[in-house]
Amino acid sequence: MAAAPDLEGRLESVRAGISDAARAAGRNLDSITTVVVTKFHPAALVRELHALGVRDFGESRNQDAEPKAAELGDLELTWHFVGQLQTNKARRVARFAHIIHSIDREPLVDALRESDAGVFLQVDLGDEPGRGGVAPSDLLPLAERVVGMPSMRLLGLMTVAPRSVEPRPTFARLRELGESVRAIAPDAVSLSMGMSGDYADAIAEGATHLRIGTAITGNRPTAG
Ligand SMILES: *Cc1c(COP(=O)(O)O)cnc(C)c1O
Repeated sequence: MAAAPDLEGRLESVRAGISDAARAAGRNLDSITTVVVTKFHPAALVRELHALGVRDFGESRNQDAEPKAAELGDLELTWHFVGQLQTNKARRVARFAHIIHSIDREPLVDALRESDAGVFLQVDLGDEPGRGGVAPSDLLPLAERVVGMPSMRLLGLMTVAPRSVEPRPTFARLRELGESVRAIAPDAVSLSMGMSGDYADAIAEGATHLRIGTAITGNRPTAG
């Protein structure tokens, strides 16, 4: 399937931006995974992006993501779930999502106890309630809970930078919290941070997983 030229142009320009930021930070591009967030977009867009070499896709709502993943079952993709997760939906999500970025409370960990998903713990470093995330003070007990589940893999930490302040100190804070988690989970070295507007700052602070939507996909169709 041929991709629309503007889609290809946006993807190229974000790829160039990532590579500039990595070079400026003295980082290897191989250490950075770009997850293209396709929430609210049709499966056809995922196909176009796949044809342009994208393999990692992010979704935030189970009711959209599950049928999309099923429709695209012929492609080899890695699905990332980045949205807030209801406890009673967790097991369904784990059936198609390879990586879940939004684990923020113990009941979710318990619901996923049989799952072999890779997980990020989402940390709330903002002042906007309702966006999800565990408080920094509750992070270590939550990490210990995950470590206690034999099949789950704790990959690292995730955050969404608050819109009201400069993002970089938030990303630095997540990196520091990541170091403290590594004392109990040495393999949890990943940092999921950086979106369309702030990925360069995230790369400067060590992001390993960028979650980029609109800068690549263009505006989202209205949430339905
Ligand atoms: C939608 C979303 C993104 C992507 O946001 P953009 O600003 O479009 O890049 C990243 N992370 C999460 C958790 C999201 O819900």
